[in-house]
Amino acid sequence: MRSELYIDGTWRPSSDGRTFEVVDPASEEVIHRIAAATAEDVDLAVRAARRAFDRDGWPQKTGAERARYLRAIAAGIRARQAEIARLETIDNGKPLPEADWDVADAAGCFDFYASLAEQLDDDPEETIALADDRFTSRAVKEPIGVAGAIIPWNYPLLMASWKVAPALAAGCTVVLKPAEVTSLTALELAAVAEEAGLPPGVLNVVTGSGTVAGQAIIDHRDVDKLAFTGSGPVGSKIMAAAARDIKRVSLELGGKSPFVVFADSDIDKAVEWIMFGIFWNQGQVCSATSRVLVQEGIYAKLLARLVTETDRIRIGNGLDEGVLLGPLVSKKQHEQVVAAIEAAKAAGATVACGGTRPEGFDRGYYLRPTVLTDVPLDSAAWVEEIFGPVVCVRPFGTEEEAIALANDSRFGLAAAVMSADDARAERVAKAFRAGIVWINCSQPTFTEAPWGGYKQSGIGRELGRWGLDNYLEVKQITRYVSGEPWGWYIR
Ligand code: NAD
Repeated sequence: MRSELYIDGTWRPSSDGRTFEVVDPASEEVIHRIAAATAEDVDLAVRAARRAFDRDGWPQKTGAERARYLRAIAAGIRARQAEIARLETIDNGKPLPEADWDVADAAGCFDFYASLAEQLDDDPEETIALADDRFTSRAVKEPIGVAGAIIPWNYPLLMASWKVAPALAAGCTVVLKPAEVTSLTALELAAVAEEAGLPPGVLNVVTGSGTVAGQAIIDHRDVDKLAFTGSGPVGSKIMAAAARDIKRVSLELGGKSPFVVFADSDIDKAVEWIMFGIFWNQGQVCSATSRVLVQEGIYAKLLARLVTETDRIRIGNGLDEGVLLGPLVSKKQHEQVVAAIEAAKAAGATVACGGTRPEGFDRGYYLRPTVLTDVPLDSAAWVEEIFGPVVCVRPFGTEEEAIALANDSRFGLAAAVMSADDARAERVAKAFRAGIVWINCSQPTFTEAPWGGYKQSGIGRELGRWGLDNYLEVKQITRYVSGEPWGWYIR
């Protein structure tokens, strides 16, 4: 396990020698300590990234040259997949097969953006048709500069990859700050990049708190772009900080995503996808479909089946074989989710199952997966993101009512619909005010497809070619081609 900051191609302790604890959420034990970056450390990292961008030629490399580094990073991640997945599980708590999936996806993300980097070379500059034939004009794309990437703890390596891979592909250099509760695999990513021979300063990883290291990144005048995934309140601070210097900014924030299940759905399939939509990663998923709307005809039957299957989920240490629900990431998160369930009960909700610590788990941040019904529409449980294994289920009558309930949220990250009627599913998919819509499933995510939210769920899109555009400026180059003098002042 790494414990130092990765700045300008070297590993170093923080400038004041301070460290913070790494806690295994399954045992509550302190298993490691990591350097807590100061503002001074962040300044060093930004200067290194600045130099790598302005003077050392990272943006001038061809896309194909940058792609070679990205592919080497992908190969480096794959070569150590089992070891990195294990680190993710002991740091975050997620079951090992999920961590393994994340690590494979992270490697795939680097390969994908390697291909897009290569295409940047092939892309003919876009010629712009002008009405005035005395000029020709074209649009070229160029990297924005130094990107400050700040990420959350729910998919530590994957969220790092979603930002670092497109940024490097575009020709940007990066200062990455992982979440303080899950920094281990971001440091492994730096180690893999180092082994891949990435030039010093192109990727820097500063571990530490949001209020010190994170704040120093967003306040730094030499950072050109802020790429953030995390909570709404911190997203607002980041946008405000970006506003001061007109930094480019992209935000991936929270959600309270609906899943509408029509009465013509197969109940087994519906229950499986509802569970995957909320219990995967202990429900700590920004796109989790945490508000489930079930059409009246099948409501009672579906709910009974959901409760039975939910109670059967095997809970335990993510490293143990067959476990499908690990501990929540931290004590703080556990306390917040338990408080949200208590508040829901106080507001009149019924706990159909779960809601408590599982029997036999005195240590570790464990919580039984929870199904809530009778949740008032104006209660926090229905309106606010809980970010835990807690789903609110509610009956509806008509398609119109379902759409109105689904869209009645300040968030708009994701939404799902299930129906045997394809035309209806399409209609509802189009009516959702959300950036990601699933039909007959919930959560599968693809590196090739755009990811991001409407409304208060964020600004901009990650992944796919949209993810690359996050790190590119568009430049217009216009040439006067007429042999005639311009003839305005001088005739
Ligand atoms: P958070 O906002 O508390 O922290 C996210 C990151 O911001 C951390 O690295 C933290 O250290 C940093 N940070 C905190 N204060 C800061 C400051 N003042 N300046 C700069 N950086 C600061 O969120 P979290 O608890 O880590 O993650 C949970 C949230 O993330 C949820 O709301 C979830 O919905 C959201 N999320 C969204 C997506 C998405 O793709 N839309 C993905 C994952 C998580």
